[in-house]
Amino acid sequence: MSSQSIREVHEKIRYIHSLYRQLKTLASRYNNVQLRVKVQKKKTAEAEADYADIKAQLDKLNAEIRQAEGRYSMIDAALQKRKAQLDAAKSNKEYTTLKDQIADDQRRNDALADEILAQTEKAEEFAPRLTEAQNAIDQARAAQSAVESELRQLVPELKESSEHLQSELRLKLKEVDTEFAPPLREALRAFDGDQAMAPVEGEYFCGGCRMEIPMQYIVALCEGKPYTCGSCGRFIYLPKDFTINNDEDE
Ligand SMILES: [Zn+2]
Repeated sequence: MSSQSIREVHEKIRYIHSLYRQLKTLASRYNNVQLRVKVQKKKTAEAEADYADIKAQLDKLNAEIRQAEGRYSMIDAALQKRKAQLDAAKSNKEYTTLKDQIADDQRRNDALADEILAQTEKAEEFAPRLTEAQNAIDQARAAQSAVESELRQLVPELKESSEHLQSELRLKLKEVDTEFAPPLREALRAFDGDQAMAPVEGEYFCGGCRMEIPMQYIVALCEGKPYTCGSCGRFIYLPKDFTINNDEDE
């Protein structure tokens, strides 16, 4: 054991653990907002797709209306031509034939006119749907931009806090007791930051994996020896209020 008391050694590791936890909190704050950005982007894309879908339906309908109007014009031209021929009919037979053709064309055009009217009414119903879809896009874009701006504002703040914590960590890791430093380094290589260490929980449980720590190792910890959990491999330290039976300070 170096000049540090057992309490001081564990106090430092406890502090190092708290620094790692704070780093993790910063990371999860960032991830959280980033996730919200992702969700909002998806909502915007969905609103845009909805609009495009409605617009495509309307375009198709309008194209059908234009086609029907074209047919109507053609039939109507034929109809007018036949009406003119009617006066110049040279026989009764010709007259009757023309009359029948005119009546037939008229029926077809009446049906076409009904169809065009119905399609036009249907097309008019698209206007409020398009407005609604456009409003949904506007809302989604506004929400996306708000959360994107939140992320932009958060980044420098998180960066500064993170740099501060990192430099504090580098400093404190250097101060770890020489006997405790190697196993702590090993755990930090094996685990991600805050997961590398755990306090003793209760009287003799690993605070990481909740497995029982054999009493001999608890005794060893209290005597100033380092211990790495035999189950999970986390570096174990004593929590603040842990009773060290053979406390050298007392
Ligand atoms: Zn464990």
